[in-house]
Amino acid sequence: MKLNIKDTYNRELSADPNRNNTRRQVFGASFSYATPRVPSKPVLAHASDEMVGAIGLNGKDKESGEFLQVFSGGKVMGGTEPYAMCYGGHQFGNWAGQLGDGRAINLAEVVHDNQRWALQLKGAGETPYSRSADGLAVLRSSIREHLCSEAMYHLGVPTTRSLSLILTGDEVLRDVLYDGNAVYEKGAVVCRVAPSFVRFGSFQIFAARRDNENLKKLADYTIRHFFPNLEEGTKEGYIQFFQEVADRTLDMVVHWQRVGFVHGVMNTDNMSILGLTIDYGPYGWLEGYDDNWTPNTTDAQGKRYRYGNQPGIALWNLVQLGNALVPLVEETKPLEEILAGFREKYAEKYMTMMRHKLGFQLEKDEDEEIIGDLEKMLQATETDMTIFFRKLSYFGRQTKTDGHGKFLQPVMDAFYKPEEVKDEVLKFWREWFDKYLNRLGNEEATDEERRTWMNRANPKYVLRNYMAQMAIDKADKGDYSLIDELYQLLKKPYDEQLEHERWFVKRPEWARHKVGCSMLSCSS
Ligand code: AMP
Ligand code: MG
Repeated sequence: MKLNIKDTYNRELSADPNRNNTRRQVFGASFSYATPRVPSKPVLAHASDEMVGAIGLNGKDKESGEFLQVFSGGKVMGGTEPYAMCYGGHQFGNWAGQLGDGRAINLAEVVHDNQRWALQLKGAGETPYSRSADGLAVLRSSIREHLCSEAMYHLGVPTTRSLSLILTGDEVLRDVLYDGNAVYEKGAVVCRVAPSFVRFGSFQIFAARRDNENLKKLADYTIRHFFPNLEEGTKEGYIQFFQEVADRTLDMVVHWQRVGFVHGVMNTDNMSILGLTIDYGPYGWLEGYDDNWTPNTTDAQGKRYRYGNQPGIALWNLVQLGNALVPLVEETKPLEEILAGFREKYAEKYMTMMRHKLGFQLEKDEDEEIIGDLEKMLQATETDMTIFFRKLSYFGRQTKTDGHGKFLQPVMDAFYKPEEVKDEVLKFWREWFDKYLNRLGNEEATDEERRTWMNRANPKYVLRNYMAQMAIDKADKGDYSLIDELYQLLKKPYDEQLEHERWFVKRPEWARHKVGCSMLSCSS
């Protein structure tokens, strides 16, 4: 196994001189050296062939004992110095001070095909940032992270990736519902991959500690390697950097809204400086369209991170990042201007995205109303978001509405309670479809062309919460086949894949209130 190792983060930024693995506050450093814990009996449950190739390995490497050793934490590669990153963050709106990689250990960076990839193990044991926790991860949450990162990539959503999912052979104690019933679960390690794992919180920690020297060092490092089109070390460069981060964050959230992804824990330590979806914890997918939905039971009261709040929270988080960059920019006005532009930009991009979902290639004044009314209807009638939009392309110029609801037949599958689609509800849907069909009349594309265009915005297959849970239940019994089946399916989420239509169905009723399907905790 030969990797082209080219470390930068642990070469160019400040290291914590203390090499002991004791929990502490780490000052004046971007990272602390940390050695992964050796697993007792590693077993490879799954690897992403694509990521194996992306980092410069092949199928034979993947099967090798060395791969298993390295990516489970059992062996440190020659010439590398693994480390845990220091960062802080706002958790649920409150400054939480130092957080850091409490259970992530960066192995190395590799460069392959002109692309830099940082390789990071999640669940490989304690680091100076572990606070009171164990540094480990369980199989259930590791499967969810591994599958979802890869699925998101293929949906076209900016994201960190996942190379491998390895069982450690060790047991990990977890209290899923935080109700005093802790049980032992199987431990696992995921190797996450991204150009960089630097977060908003990486900057915040230095700003909070008034450590301008390291703040500047980190900003210059990030610009040098990941924003090479920007100027390093100048005020103008830092302002443009903030603009770029804001734009990328905005794009990421528009994609989340498009596919119905709810992150669940948008704390500033979980916001990637590259605008990638990062830290797959208690995330979930909208099934019934619902602005107020969050899968995270820890957030059930305030619902801070609910679907409809994600754009606002992205902005809130950008405000925190902006604050952290003030010492570099030395004035607030240019940063404020960038933040002030966010809402309008978001509204524009959101409209463009929704037009794609609805099959409008032209821009018309009435679009805003049509889209707004649709959101209200989807919210009022429990409607499966993925199925509804995918099937919407079946409507065309010839479709005529009627008072009995026959015209709704193509999207009938999307309603969780079809028997309720009558009287007033039916009347509203009919009014909406009349407007929609009328609007389609303005379009030049044929029905066929429009369907192709819509199918690129509306995935047919997403990693529904119950699907991940089924893969978890099987894997718990030692059968990893469903992990690979879902991985293969979700590589082509926009393709019809008729042989896989059993995954193109609404959430089954058994999953409505099941832990792991509709309710997820941070316990991972
Ligand atoms: P998260 O909510 O996963 O983003 O985690 C917030 C903070 O808690 C980060 O600093 C994590 O590294 C840390 N953390 C989460 N779970 C564990 C764990 N099992 N052991 C040690 N640290 C953890
Ligand atoms: Mg995190």
